[in-house]
Amino acid sequence: MDCLFCKIAAGTIPVTRLYETDELLAFPDINPQAPVHVLLIPKAHHASLAHTSPAEAPLLGRLLAAAIEVAREQKLDGGYRVVINTGDDGGQTVGHLHLHLLGKRHMGWPPG
Ligand code: 5GP
Ligand code: ZN
Repeated sequence: MDCLFCKIAAGTIPVTRLYETDELLAFPDINPQAPVHVLLIPKAHHASLAHTSPAEAPLLGRLLAAAIEVAREQKLDGGYRVVINTGDDGGQTVGHLHLHLLGKRHMGWPPG
C-alpha cells in the first residue's frame, strides 16, 4: 500500500507515538503550524472524511474522543482547534483520513 500514513500506522516509517489504540494513532505533524500540532489517524485506510460512510460514525466519534484525550494530555487548557481537511478544496494533501489538533497559540477566524 503506497500510503504515507498507512506506513506510519504500520511502523514502517517511525514516528513518536503520542497516543495509540488498536484502531487509532496520534503523532506530531512534521511541519507544525502551532506549538502543538498533532495528527490523529484511524490505522485503517480511508482516503478522506468524504470516503467514510455512516457505518463509520462510531469510528469517527472515537477519533474525536481521542483528540479530546490528546488535548488533555498536551495540556491545551487555553483551547485548541480540530481540523479535518477534505479533498482538494479542503486543502488535503495526504490521502489518508487524518485530524489535525492544533494548540498553544491563539488562532483567528477565518483561517488564512
Ligand atoms: P493535510 O494537508 O492533508 O490536511 O495534512 C497533511 C499533514 O501531514 C501536513 O500538515 C503535513 O505537514 C503532514 N505530513 C506530511 N508528511 C508527513 C510525514 O512524513 N510525517 C509527519 N509526521 N507528518 C507529515
Ligand atoms: Zn492509508
